[in-house]
Amino acid sequence: MKQSKLFTKTKKEAPSDEVSKNAELLIRGGFIHKEIAGVYSYLPLGLRVIKKIENIIREEMNVIGGQEMKTSILQNKEIWEKTNRWDDEVVDTWFKTKLKNGGEIGLSFTNEEAYSNILKQYVSSYKDLPIYPYDFKNIFRNEARSKSGIMRGREFYWKALYSFSKDEIEHNNFYEKMKVAYQNVFKRVGIGHLTYITFASGGSFSKFSHEFQTVISVGEDTIYLDENSGVAINKEVYNDETISQLGLDKAKLTEKRAVEVGNIFSLGTKFSEPFDLKYRDEKGKEKSVIMGSYGIGLSRLMGTIVEALADDKGIIWPESVAPFNIHLLVLGDDDTIFAEANKIYESLEKNKIEVLFDDRKEVSAGEKFAEADLLGIPYRAVVSARSLKDLSAGVVGGGIELKKRTEEKGKIVSLEELLKILKLKS
Ligand code: ATP
Ligand code: MG
Repeated sequence: MKQSKLFTKTKKEAPSDEVSKNAELLIRGGFIHKEIAGVYSYLPLGLRVIKKIENIIREEMNVIGGQEMKTSILQNKEIWEKTNRWDDEVVDTWFKTKLKNGGEIGLSFTNEEAYSNILKQYVSSYKDLPIYPYDFKNIFRNEARSKSGIMRGREFYWKALYSFSKDEIEHNNFYEKMKVAYQNVFKRVGIGHLTYITFASGGSFSKFSHEFQTVISVGEDTIYLDENSGVAINKEVYNDETISQLGLDKAKLTEKRAVEVGNIFSLGTKFSEPFDLKYRDEKGKEKSVIMGSYGIGLSRLMGTIVEALADDKGIIWPESVAPFNIHLLVLGDDDTIFAEANKIYESLEKNKIEVLFDDRKEVSAGEKFAEADLLGIPYRAVVSARSLKDLSAGVVGGGIELKKRTEEKGKIVSLEELLKILKLKS
């Protein structure tokens, strides 16, 4: 894509009321637009990142048997009354509205009821189980405070999968597979080295749930981490009993600030009972379905990646989620140099390499460099009078100055070499 055609422009300043680094950088880069605190629109660059994250999660869910669907955002009051979660006294984060012909509806703040209600129509025999449906969806929560940018939205984008199993063994087996799938996701999006499986409070059906906590200084949660095993305990269940139960040594645990990028939860029959979600086993005996829930906040994850990896010049996207693989910059306003850069651009496009081409004539070299650092695309390739003349690498016809976002200095490469480097990556 040509940057001259991109309707968003970078900004020197973020809105003065924006206090989080992730939103500040993402707004300045033109990835997102702030409506109000906790409510953001995703602009073309931001949407490209979210879609990459989404695809990684989709692949990992499908490998373990996930079936993608799309549930409605407007929710029927009656189904939430079955679990006593309609009442504002019970759930204080609802956004609700009224229908014209009377009656109330709510905007999804989570999905257990909707899934249980749908699955009730399709499950009756042991042959129907297990099932692992999931969706990507906008979720609405009337959070009291929202000062962490896209890490805590009042409207946010998530993935939720619910497991429907015949018994505890089948459930536990899938639960363990999901732990691995989540670790794969966080590794693939570039924050695996900072993300720890964390014991958190469970419910009436299991002592613990598991959170995936990414250690960053602005995290809203407190965890106690054993760096050796990579296991952590959330503050809410941090006590001598938990420590000894998990075989950890209190002296080796360190307190960290972290953000919960995902969590997995055993639900038992908490939802299947109120929805009368039952099946008949091989012997014809009626049993309740065993459920689990598995969430990841994609927008929170995107904000976490920014917080965790950015430097003082701007964002640093891991290659797996970057809006483009390479940022091609042409410097000066010489027509022959522009023609040369254009050839390189077309060749990258033809080779299916995602390239953002800064083809703007009126922008200075210094500004282009600063913007490239802010946008954080993994590779920067500069075409200029100097790069084209540089014969130090013995490049016939001149070269391209290639540099990773994380490197200080670039090197001169030919177009062929550039294609080779980038193709190996994609
Ligand atoms: P928190 O404890 O941070 O409020 P939660 O435990 O209420 O989150 P869940 O209801 O379990 O969150 O939601 C599943 C996932 O959705 C979380 O692990 C997190 O990644 C994400 N998430 C939750 N609330 C938000 C939010 N307000 N904005 C963005 N992502 C969120
Ligand atoms: Mg939580």
